[in-house]
Amino acid sequence: MLKSTDDIRITAVRLLESLPAGVTLVAAAKGRSVEQVRSVIEAGVTHIGHNYVQEAEAMRPLFAEPVSWHLIGHLQSNKARKAIELFDIVQTVDSLRLASDLDRRCASMHRMLPILVEVNSGGEESKSGVLPEQVDELVSDLAALRHIQVQGLMTMGPRSGDPEDSRRYFHTTRLAFERLARVGLPRVEMRYLSMGMSNSFRVAIEEGANLVRIGSLLFES
Ligand SMILES: *Cc1c(COP(=O)(O)O)cnc(C)c1O
Repeated sequence: MLKSTDDIRITAVRLLESLPAGVTLVAAAKGRSVEQVRSVIEAGVTHIGHNYVQEAEAMRPLFAEPVSWHLIGHLQSNKARKAIELFDIVQTVDSLRLASDLDRRCASMHRMLPILVEVNSGGEESKSGVLPEQVDELVSDLAALRHIQVQGLMTMGPRSGDPEDSRRYFHTTRLAFERLARVGLPRVEMRYLSMGMSNSFRVAIEEGANLVRIGSLLFES
């Protein structure tokens, strides 16, 4: 059901208040209107996530507020340049090839792009993301790229009705996060662990998430 902008604002304020210190809310804005996104920003949300380059392209110029724009959907190489222009951080890097494209374009644009590596923590064939057993190798390859900066890991985990079913996938991702933090690669900083959505963010936080991406809970009733 459609929620009024007042109700969206109230939900956002309550959600922000309920999050533990150190956990940042990213409002997942796919398919939402400018008014809906404006409501969460007015409520104090400072990070907005988009799945599609086109949606961000339409929306970003309409906001003067100092919010941070995250790409949380899969990125195709032919959209790399636009993505670099539009986003402050790309959460969905899952291959050396995509990262190299971003790096090359960032070099020509004189930019340093923060990224997260997306982990396919459920090992699902249909999903994007690097497999947990390959994430260390990918991150060490990415460390060689001078214009992107790895700042952490992101995962979705298999969709399920019961958030407890997600716990083991969040845990697997957290173990990789901690392992990589210990390795201490150059230009690699394990700062953000992006896990959990509307139905699973509490479990994700228990498993160490410090970025939670929430859409339906904010925008739908
Ligand atoms: C839509 C989406 C979310 C938010 O999901 P909700 O269940 O609506 O909270 C989080 N992350 C990604 C990558 C998404 O596409």
